[in-house]
Amino acid sequence: MDNWLCKQARLSPDRIAVTDGKQQLSFQALATDAGHIAGQLTANNIPAQTRVAVLANNTLAGYRIAMALLGSGRTIVWLNKRLTTAELLREFVDCQASTCLVADDLWRTDFPEAFIQFSVLLATAADPESLQSDFDLPQVASIMYTSGTTGAPKGVLQTFGNHYNSALASALNLGLTPNDDWLCAVPIFHISGFSIMMRGLIYGMTVRLTERFDAEAINTILVNEPVTAMSVVPYMLKKLLAFQETNSAPYNAHFRTMLLGGGPIDRTTLKRCEQLHISVVQSYGMTETCSQIVALSNQDAAAKIGSAGQPLFSTQLMISDDNEILLKTPALTPGYLNRPTALFDKTTADGWYKTGDVGQLDDDGFLFVDGRLDDMIISGGENIFPDEIEAVYQNCPGIRDIAVVGEPNDTWGMVPVAFVVADEPLDTLTFKQYGRDHLAHYKVPKRFIAIDALPVNAGGKVQRVVLRKLL
Ligand code: ATP
Ligand code: MG
Repeated sequence: MDNWLCKQARLSPDRIAVTDGKQQLSFQALATDAGHIAGQLTANNIPAQTRVAVLANNTLAGYRIAMALLGSGRTIVWLNKRLTTAELLREFVDCQASTCLVADDLWRTDFPEAFIQFSVLLATAADPESLQSDFDLPQVASIMYTSGTTGAPKGVLQTFGNHYNSALASALNLGLTPNDDWLCAVPIFHISGFSIMMRGLIYGMTVRLTERFDAEAINTILVNEPVTAMSVVPYMLKKLLAFQETNSAPYNAHFRTMLLGGGPIDRTTLKRCEQLHISVVQSYGMTETCSQIVALSNQDAAAKIGSAGQPLFSTQLMISDDNEILLKTPALTPGYLNRPTALFDKTTADGWYKTGDVGQLDDDGFLFVDGRLDDMIISGGENIFPDEIEAVYQNCPGIRDIAVVGEPNDTWGMVPVAFVVADEPLDTLTFKQYGRDHLAHYKVPKRFIAIDALPVNAGGKVQRVVLRKLL
């Protein structure tokens, strides 16, 4: 294929490619800018065809540099700004990048000299370079480390073909309009954010960047700016609803989709969205599949409450005998960096990718995700998923936060126990009664253990593996 940036600069030169609300760049301007930055990369001894690590916020500078790296044939390795310096360096060494480009406000005094600040790169005197003419679909465009929820983070290779297929499947599901403008408040170093950048290029769509998730500021953007779609995780959606419900004007007339990922939505939140005429598309996906591969439309949401939806056009799903979700999709990674057998180990003999998640398909082909295989608790022969118990206890008085793990037990094999964050001493008897009122008895945690805060990884997900070690 032609380089997507150059292609859009020809097809829709004047269309706004990206804006942060203050400044904006058309596709033509972005392509020209990428040529300039490509020259600056070369002048800083960052050779073409190498891997370049990037530590960025959702700012215009990060976006422009990412476009220049892609456009000039360099591979972006996205690093997570929430990692400690030691963790960042481990990934930096693992990916053998030529350097790491760092947003000025993310610079740390203990970074090696080889790392380069954005402002230094962008101030380098250099002649512009022409961009790479082709984007070969098998070529690796980006590398992204998994959140490490279940183990050490692994570098996932994402090809242009993976991104292209992901964007295409999403468009076939959500449709495209000439006004499309996607608000990117999820981090560009996660697939949820970076996939918006890639869709922007492929669709010729405007990307509206916001640096932080500030619910009030985002509500104002959704009301006043011509944004048509936004990607959210459940907690973001709930925060946004609170602002809509307090005398806010409705979102602008073009707004059409909240794309929700990371977990299912509860019935109450869905009802609130309905009342406010906010259309929510729920989805399931992972870094390895370049974002969503299963989606649930607004129309089906009420009838299929708790479902992540149906596989997108190019994705096939299957449930294995032990209830693991298996899939085939052209958006699937060709493998993990420096782990030649890792993908093979996660693939069945007939080519299905083993997600590590457990779920069910109903008779209409809708997927219900139960949770991760590693987190499943088998108690007296019954399968228990922490997600379900935690969701029930979210509404229990006296509990601020909760995470459930399995504990070995002589009688049952395993039993669920709960770690609880609370303001008062734990009222275990009341908590147990609450559980019996809302759950099958074998799912009620046998113990409630007070903890100051739940351990979360850099992606904000609870690390149950850390909690298990505390038992
Ligand atoms: P690691 O692979 O390093 O343990 P991770 O799997 O948390 O990290 P991601 O690729 O960011 O890293 O997350 C994908 C996972 O998130 C899925 O495999 C699944 O467990 C969970 N997930 C995503 N969408 C949903 C959903 N709609 N419902 C339930 N779980 C979901
Ligand atoms: Mg994973």
